[in-house]
Amino acid sequence: MTDTTIEHLIAPHEESAVAISAPDRAPLTYGALNQLVANTIIKLNDLGIGRNDPVAIILPNGPEMATAFVAIASAATSAPLNPAYREDEFDFYLSDLNARALVIQQGMDSPARAVAAKHGVMIIELIVDEAAAGSFSLQLEDQSLVPVKTTNGGSAQVDDVALVLHTSGTTSRPKIVPLSHRNVCTSAFNIGKTLALSENDRCLNVMPLFHIHGLIAAVLSSLAAGASIFCTPGFNALKFFAWMDDARPSWYTAVPTMHQTILARAPRNAESLARGELRFVRSSSAALPPQVLLQLEQTFGCRVIEAYGMTEAAHQMASNPLEPLDRKPGTVGIAAGPEVGIMDETGNILAQGETGEIVIRGDNVTTGYQNNDEANATGFTGGWFRTGDQGNLDAQGYLTITGRLKEIINRGGEKISPREIDEVLLDHPDIAQIVTFAMPHDKLGEEVAAAVVLNEGSNADERAIRDYASSRLADFKVPRKVIILEEIPKGATGKVQRIGLAEKLGLTS
Ligand code: AMP
Repeated sequence: MTDTTIEHLIAPHEESAVAISAPDRAPLTYGALNQLVANTIIKLNDLGIGRNDPVAIILPNGPEMATAFVAIASAATSAPLNPAYREDEFDFYLSDLNARALVIQQGMDSPARAVAAKHGVMIIELIVDEAAAGSFSLQLEDQSLVPVKTTNGGSAQVDDVALVLHTSGTTSRPKIVPLSHRNVCTSAFNIGKTLALSENDRCLNVMPLFHIHGLIAAVLSSLAAGASIFCTPGFNALKFFAWMDDARPSWYTAVPTMHQTILARAPRNAESLARGELRFVRSSSAALPPQVLLQLEQTFGCRVIEAYGMTEAAHQMASNPLEPLDRKPGTVGIAAGPEVGIMDETGNILAQGETGEIVIRGDNVTTGYQNNDEANATGFTGGWFRTGDQGNLDAQGYLTITGRLKEIINRGGEKISPREIDEVLLDHPDIAQIVTFAMPHDKLGEEVAAAVVLNEGSNADERAIRDYASSRLADFKVPRKVIILEEIPKGATGKVQRIGLAEKLGLTS
C-alpha cells in the first residue's frame, strides 16, 4: 500500500464521512476534500504550476493549512513555511527552495509578499470558503497577469516530491529535505498501523502544520485511515480543554513541552478530563521524561505512546506500541516502519545492547538532501541514513536515545549526555521543567549549564538545585550554572533547542 500518492490515499473513504473539522466551523467531508484536491490540481496547472514545482505555503495554522498541504502536494511540491518568519528568513527560504509560487491567505500581511515580488515568485491568494473547515479557492494576486498553462500538469505521481521542509539547522545552514509521495504515504500508513487508527478516530491537532510532526502524524495518518482531524489555530494551554470538550477526540499528539503545560492546567479542568474519552496520547519530536509520561497517563487515564520522529524519515521511525504490548517509559519504543540499527563510527552495525549512532532505512526515508552532495556523503552509509542521534536497542528491540551527537557536552574531553542530567533533576520536587545544555568555557571548551522552571510557589535557588545534583551525579556532571526562568525558550515547533541556548541566555561571554 505504499506505492501511492496523497491524492489516492484520501480517495477511497466514505464520501459523507468527516475529514476535517475546526472550532466554530462546519466540517469538511471526504467527498468535499476529494473535490477540493481535483479543483486545486486544475487551478494550479492553469496558473502554470505542475508536478515537482516548489510552491511555498504561508497560512495561519488551521484547517486550510491542512487541506492546502494535501491539495497542493497532489499537483506540485508543497513547501509549508512558518508564517512567523521575518523578511530575511523568507528571503533565504524562498530563494533556497527556488519557489515557483507562493500561496498565501488573502488579507494576510506578511513580509513574504515583498520578498516574493522581489524574486519574481508568483503570488497566489488562498481565499477561505467559510462554508466548511478547510475549504478554499485560489486566485492570482495580480489579476492582470496572463498565466500560461503548464505542460507538466495532472496528478502528482508516487516518486514526485510531495513535500519539502528544511532541517532546523541549529549548527549549520538548513538543508532541504525532499519527501516523495512514497515517503510520506508510507509514513502515514506506518503511523496508522502503530496507533491502530480507523475511521472512528478523531485527532485533536495542536501541532504547527509547517512541521513534519503535525503534517504527517496528525493530518496524513488520519486521512490515510479515513479518520478525522480537528484543526486548532495552534497550541494554546488556555483553550486546550475547551477544544477537548468541543472536538471529543480519541487522541492527540504533541511535543513534551506542550504536554507539560497541559499537565499544569489539568487540576483546573477535572470535569473536562472526566468527560474525555482518549484512546491514547502521543508524544514525539523530543524526549518525554518518564515522570511526565506517568503523570499524563494518570491524568488522562489512557496509555501514553512516545514515538521517535525526524523530518528526513517523514516523521516516525520508532514508537512504543499499544496494548497488549509493553510501553517502556524512557524508551522511544520499537522500530515502527523503517528498519532501525545502531552503527559505529566506521559504518559497522553494532550488536544489541551496544551504543552508537541510530541509523534507519525504509520507504519512508528521504533518498537524499536536495543539492547537497556533501551532506549526502556523510548522511548515508551503506544504504542506511545516519540520524545524528545516539542510542541503543535492548533485548526486546526497544530503542533508548542517549543523546544527540551534536548535543553531547564535551567538558574537556569528558562527554556528558544532557538528557541524563535532565532526568535526574526532574526528580527534584521543586523542578517542573529543565533543559541541560553546553555553555562555553575558556579552559574546558564546554561546561554544563541548566535552565530550570520551578513549580508554582517553590523558592528553591541555584545552590539548592546544585546541591541536589551533587547528591546524585558525579562532580563533572553537576551544572556549574543553573538559571531559574519563568519559561524555557523554545523554537518555532515548540521544541527546546539545546544548541544555541547558551547564546540565547547570554552565557557566551
Ligand atoms: P525534527 O526533524 O524536527 O522532527 O527533529 C528530529 C529530531 O528530534 C531527532 O533527530 C531527535 O534528535 C529528536 N527526537 C524526536 N523524537 C524524539 C524522542 N521521542 N525522544 C528524543 N528525541 C527525539
